[in-house]
Amino acid sequence: MSTLRFQALQQSQLREIIKIDESNRRSELFNNNVFDQQAMRQYLTKNACEAINNAVEKGTQINRDIANEIAVGMKEWAISKGATHYTHWFQPLTGSTAEKHDAFFETTGDGLSIEKFGGGQLAQQEPDASSFPHGGIRNTFEARGYTAWDPTSPAFVYGTTLCIPTVFVAYTGEALDNKTPLLRSLQCLDGAATAVAKYFDKTVSKVNATLGWEQEYFLIDKALATSRPDLMIAGRTLLGHASAKGQQLDDHYFGSIPTRVLNYMRDLEQECMLLGIPVKTRHNEVAPNQFELAPIFEEANLAVDHNSLLMDVMDKVADRHHFKVLFHEKPFAGINGSGKHNNWSLATNTGVNLLSPGSTPMKNLQFLTFFINTIKAVHDYEELIRASIASASNDHRLGANEAPPAIISVFIGSQLTQVLDELEKVTSGKLSPQEKTELKLNVVGKIPEILLDNTDRNRTSPFAFTGNKFELRAVGSTANCANPMTVLNAIVAKQLIDFKKEVDALIEKKKLKKDDAIFNILREYIKASKKIRFEGDGYGDAWEKEAKKRGLSNNKTTPEALKANLSKKSVELFENLEILTSVEMEARYEIQMEEYTMKVQIEGRVLGDIARNHVIPTAIKYQNILIENVKGLKDIYEKDYMKLAKEQLNLIEQISSHIENINQGITDMTQARKDSNAISNAEKRAFSYCNKVKPYFEEIRYHCDKLELLVDDEIWPLTKYRELLFTK
Ligand code: ADP
Ligand code: MG
Repeated sequence: MSTLRFQALQQSQLREIIKIDESNRRSELFNNNVFDQQAMRQYLTKNACEAINNAVEKGTQINRDIANEIAVGMKEWAISKGATHYTHWFQPLTGSTAEKHDAFFETTGDGLSIEKFGGGQLAQQEPDASSFPHGGIRNTFEARGYTAWDPTSPAFVYGTTLCIPTVFVAYTGEALDNKTPLLRSLQCLDGAATAVAKYFDKTVSKVNATLGWEQEYFLIDKALATSRPDLMIAGRTLLGHASAKGQQLDDHYFGSIPTRVLNYMRDLEQECMLLGIPVKTRHNEVAPNQFELAPIFEEANLAVDHNSLLMDVMDKVADRHHFKVLFHEKPFAGINGSGKHNNWSLATNTGVNLLSPGSTPMKNLQFLTFFINTIKAVHDYEELIRASIASASNDHRLGANEAPPAIISVFIGSQLTQVLDELEKVTSGKLSPQEKTELKLNVVGKIPEILLDNTDRNRTSPFAFTGNKFELRAVGSTANCANPMTVLNAIVAKQLIDFKKEVDALIEKKKLKKDDAIFNILREYIKASKKIRFEGDGYGDAWEKEAKKRGLSNNKTTPEALKANLSKKSVELFENLEILTSVEMEARYEIQMEEYTMKVQIEGRVLGDIARNHVIPTAIKYQNILIENVKGLKDIYEKDYMKLAKEQLNLIEQISSHIENINQGITDMTQARKDSNAISNAEKRAFSYCNKVKPYFEEIRYHCDKLELLVDDEIWPLTKYRELLFTK
């Protein structure tokens, strides 16, 4: 074993396990560092509390006087929690979170000093926007950007900083972040879904989208991770031969959690509790050293914030425990990668889950309405959903027989399929009393019972109905959930608006009763959206062929998938709903294409470096040992040496051949990179990186991995898969 590898392994073994004090109950810790209702009541006047609650529930503005009052209360509360600084906390289009800390501390000019924080500082800040991705927006307009308080997501104290969730927009109003379009989409969805929910219950006045994400990740000893330049820089291994044992024994999944990992999880969960992230589930995942964490679901905006915050907290806590968290979708070849299932549903202010069947036929018709409209929306905008989960890293996972393919389809289970088949037979126009009774009692009325034992969950589906929610499983583990959630909210909002129009038209023009009209429109939707429904094995080749026949898209790479974001249909959707303007969409498109290029470019550079500066020199060193050996044999045995040196000579030649291939691969890849870099159009450059640069990765890797098998373990410089994956 090389000295570097040995030291890393030794370090990992010498780690002391950090003990976690768990004397406090979780429920006592929960929300302790969040400016929640309880803190508000203690630190704010009744008026100020009401202003915040109205902003959350009704979207009303908070005026400057009240904002001042809130700021003072919030500051006092934050200081009581040990905060010295405050920051506007936002999610720029880099995919991570951003913060710039300012101290409460101010001097008064007469030698005195105070802690100060006013409504102005709470409501709006002007961070320098020039270094965040803007996709050309800043060039066309003003250079400045500002952050504005989002009162629907509560402020929290993290470490010694008061964090205020904000949106981030250009001076001219264009969104430069993930939150702004998400909030706009939630507002649209609220309007559209509330109007439809009123068909069934007049008292509904608000509908929230709910989100429960499931975060998968790898946990690797920090010393070992640090010894691999690819893991440190690209977040994944760009080479490394599979270890003899991978996940084939399935002995890790749901197995007992290693002590050091468990202590990390406990520590992490306590931090989450303080920050109000309601984490609930933890377990081992399929691959060695892979784990999952899931919370209780929340309102979607809050859930998105909590996931972003969580990823940051996970990193920090891991550092304490000498771990490195890998969020990458495919850190290791040959074993499962990580995803982030997005469980999504709709909840009314009256406490009803609109995707959960109820106790009366009418409640079940409500369920069917939202259920079928969601399917129809996914049918109409499948390409947009695919685009919303596209990233250079997720490309490695989709369709790799461990995650859904790049084809979007909907799974609903055999029982609900039967229900839809029955509904398809509904007569056109007014329903006869018998038909209505039959439908209500025997079809719609039976839904709650059939869903009770609806256990046949199809794990291969990218969008599955799981009893009382839909589960979008194609989201990558590094993703910010805002993007896929914005798309899902938007397409369902549009669908519900169309639905309401059509139902109202039937009621008005054809004089149909409300439920007759609803049945009629739902029947048409079931027919129209049939091709998106697929109950079979999503991993098989057969499905790829079948999907092609059905005319479903199968965009395998990110640049291909992203194109849907700028289609006429997508631009119209977002413009009509006022979620994004065409300028914003073009800017985002450019940012995403550019990000793709950069990711592949970085990987190409790291791979070139490792292969040329680590692998080849090591291979030559070993080859020299072999050459010395052959020379020695020749000295001793003279003419007869050939018999004894046959294998060595063979190895020497193999090594030369691999070295030659690696060198050629890197030279060609570098040229392809140069050619791609010369392309000025961001879209074309991304396509070039995808089709001309990336294909060399596999080729170079293949020969490096072969060398790993040939070269003496004693001198191999890179920590091997077995060491990364099985060190506990
Ligand atoms: P699994 O998918 O692993 O079998 P569950 O079905 O129990 O697990 O739930 C997975 C996730 O779904 C959890 O994060 C949970 O909070 C979330 N979830 C449950 N109900 C809803 C809902 N109505 N809306 C959004 N998410 C939900
Ligand atoms: Mg799940």
